[in-house]
Formats: sequence, C-alpha cells, structure tokens
Amino acid sequence: MSAVETVDALYVHARELVTLRDGPPTGSRRGADLAKLGVIEDGAVAVRGGRIVGVGKTDELTARFRSERTFDLSGLVVLPGFVDAHTHPVFAKTRQDEFHMRCQGADYLQIAQAGGGILNSARALRAASREDLAAVVRRNYDGFLANGTTTIEAKSGYGLSTDSELLSLEVLGEVAEEHPLTVARTFLGAHEVPEEYRADPDRYVDLVVDEMLPAVAERGLATSCDVFAEPKVFDAARSERILRAALDRGFRLRVHADEIEPMGGAELSARLGADSADHLPRISDEGIRALAASRTTAMLLPGTSFYLGKPAHAPARRMIEAGCAVALATDFNPGSCYTQSMTLVVTLACVLLHMTPEECITATTINAAASLGLDGEIGTLHDGKRCDLVALDLPDWRGIGYVFGGNPVAMTVKDGEPVCLNVHDLESEL
Ligand SMILES: [Zn+2]
Repeated sequence: MSAVETVDALYVHARELVTLRDGPPTGSRRGADLAKLGVIEDGAVAVRGGRIVGVGKTDELTARFRSERTFDLSGLVVLPGFVDAHTHPVFAKTRQDEFHMRCQGADYLQIAQAGGGILNSARALRAASREDLAAVVRRNYDGFLANGTTTIEAKSGYGLSTDSELLSLEVLGEVAEEHPLTVARTFLGAHEVPEEYRADPDRYVDLVVDEMLPAVAERGLATSCDVFAEPKVFDAARSERILRAALDRGFRLRVHADEIEPMGGAELSARLGADSADHLPRISDEGIRALAASRTTAMLLPGTSFYLGKPAHAPARRMIEAGCAVALATDFNPGSCYTQSMTLVVTLACVLLHMTPEECITATTINAAASLGLDGEIGTLHDGKRCDLVALDLPDWRGIGYVFGGNPVAMTVKDGEPVCLNVHDLESEL
C-alpha cells in the first residue's frame, strides 16, 4: 500500500462532481458526446501547485491524500469553472438610458438617432481615463468570478480609434495581471464604423488593417482578432479583408456572424479557419454544413437575442445534429446583453435553443475552452489541468437551467484557491 501524499488542498463531499471525464481531456465535443458528463457522487478533488492531482470518491481520495486545508462541499454540485468565451467587459459607462427608451417603445433606429448604440459607448470610452476604465474592468472581472466563471475571452471594440483600442486592450491585460480570472484578449477594432468615417467606411477598414492591427501585434496586446460581420456594418468583402490581414499578422480569428441579417458569416469563418463563429441566429443551411465540417466552434449567445426581444434564435438542435462543435457564452456588454451569469445563459439555451442541461454544461466548459485553445489547461477535471471549479447550491446537476433568476454559485475556485464565497465559509477541519 502506497503512502498517503500531502497536497495543498482537498475539496471533499461534493454532492455531485461533474468531471466531464467520460470524454477525452482535450478537443471540442460534438453530437452525442456533448452529453458525457462523468458525474461522481460524494466527489472530491486534490490540488497541488494549483493543478488537479486526483479526482474521485471522497473516501478514495482521503485515503490517498492528506491536506491541512480541506473544504467541505456538502450539498453542492461542483463543475469545472465556467468558460465565458465571448464578452465585452471594457467600457466606460452602462446604457440603461437606451434600455429605458426601448421599454417605452423606441426602436433601434430611434435609439441610434438619439446618439445611442456602440457609438454612444465609443464617445464615453474616448473621454475616460485609464483609471476609470480599470475600475470598470476590475468590477466586471469580480462579477465573472461571483457567477462561477474562471476564464473569459475579453474584446476591445468600444474605442474605435487606434489610441483608445490600444488603451482598452492594455487595461484588460493590466487588471488581469492582478486578478485571479484568466483573460484571453481579442482585438475588435472592427466592431462598428465610427462617426468620423461614416462617409467612407473603407478608410476605417484601412485604419484597422494598416495601423491598428500592426500596433496590437507589435505590443502583443491580443491573441485574436474579431469583426462584426454584418451587411450594414462590415460587409463580406470588408470583413474578409480585415480577417485575412489579421491572419497574416499571426492572430487567431473569431467572428460576429449571421446575427441580424444572413451574410454567409459562418461560411466565411469556417473557410478562414476561425476559432469561433458567434451569435448565428440567421445562419443558413450551408453555414451549418460548413461549420460542421470545420474546426470552427459555433458560439451561441441566447442572452442577446432574448434581451433584444428578437424572435429568431440560433438553431442549436440542427447544429448539434449536423455535428457542429457548439459552445455558449454571455456576450456580456453594456448595450445588448448586460448579464455575466452563465447559469442564466444555460436556462435560456434550454428554453429558447432546446438544448439539454448536459449539452449546456459541455458547451460552457470544455467546448468554450477548446474555442480559446485552452482545452489542455481547463474545461474538464482531468489530472494535470488547472483546478478551476464552481460549486453550485442546487439539488443535482439538472438544476442548472431549472433554477434561474438568482445566483446559485456558492463558491468559485481558481487555480486551487477559493476566490469567491457567496454563501458561507466552507473551510473545515475534517
Ligand atoms: Zn459580441
């Protein structure tokens, strides 16, 4: 019999530990594999150096490992920390004024005419100081942890000038350096055409391609580049020009695709080998086939279509049946989706997209991680991965989706350390 090993921390007595170990540790999951959860009752996790060194039943793990720090997760459902792979957390001000106008019956055009929309955010961000932005970003990062999210993808895109886009990416990075949250940065200079280029959008595309992309690449401020690919924003030709220039500079690609009007955004994303095509309520049958045959993840954002009161939602069932790699994200942003709750997104995906809770769990963990190229590090509870966990106060894993409107997160664990306790201190002497 081998000796008992000492570890940095033990998390024990999870009512259910959802490991996702019934599938391989890496790679996105498709079709029936989306439902392979690998649930362990009375589960435990052992941690050393921030990494998982053991997963199993509590009695097995307490026989193998000992620790001075043991956390009792009795009554809680524990999953890999959520991975929110589409967020816009760097902005200067919230836009509840526009929400108020919408509630009074104003449409998108009226709000835009009153100075609303992304350009409203751009005016505010350009006037904000580095400290102002850092304060907003820090508060937003705290909000992700409080909702059980341990890794995010974070986009710029509310500056729309070279200086303000660089500042946005710098602040996202600087705040992340002193914060537990893992943040993967994406340059989204092509989020909208700013006011001063409205008469000649191609000149703004020139600026993005010739000035912004080289500056972001030179400073190492983002790993990915994204474009808002829409006929009335950046049409197919302009989107492809920006994305190809980004590829040439060594960026990975993500694309806001087929959200408002169909434009072949999914096909473009697949053809360019993008990591993800995001939104997709207006995806074509051809787009579904293209994604299914590609490495590109279909990143679905049901919170946005819900919040905007849109009748069309992404056809998740047809995508899953066709073999697409499906992931879910919040699209947290000040205009069209002000939520950081992945559990709310799961409810919306179950009700509006007709996904099952087990598919949603895979879509918010390993598949989202794979879309960021981080599946070797996070997204499942395999040995050697970072110990990122979320502990939910739910009757069992099917309660994810069933319970909505509150925050069921009792504890968030990042790199083996509890970083957010929403209910009570769970550290105990066993
Ligand atoms: Zn977005």
